[in-house]
Amino acid sequence: MAFATEEALEAPEGNWWDQANCLGVDPDLFFPERGASTREAKAVCRGCIVSDDCLEYALRNSEKFGIWGGMSERERRRVRRQRALTRRTAAG
Ligand code: SF4
Repeated sequence: MAFATEEALEAPEGNWWDQANCLGVDPDLFFPERGASTREAKAVCRGCIVSDDCLEYALRNSEKFGIWGGMSERERRRVRRQRALTRRTAAG
């Protein structure tokens, strides 16, 4: 996530990020180097009451980097694929 950055302050749709557990936490934690641990960031997300909003925001905006809603980019890609598959199946 990036709510501690200026970019994040432009986040649309309500003010749920006001309640983000990661406010004030070092943003670098949420943008680890390739192959670095995401455990600490995910631990912050686990205690976050707006993690669903955060995840949906990232999915809607196709955020390519960072931990959002407790999920890595790869995990979010999996969710997007699964949802696309579900939509296709439902559409027949
Ligand atoms: S889910 Fe994680 S990244 Fe998203 S707002 Fe909460 S603490 Fe921040």
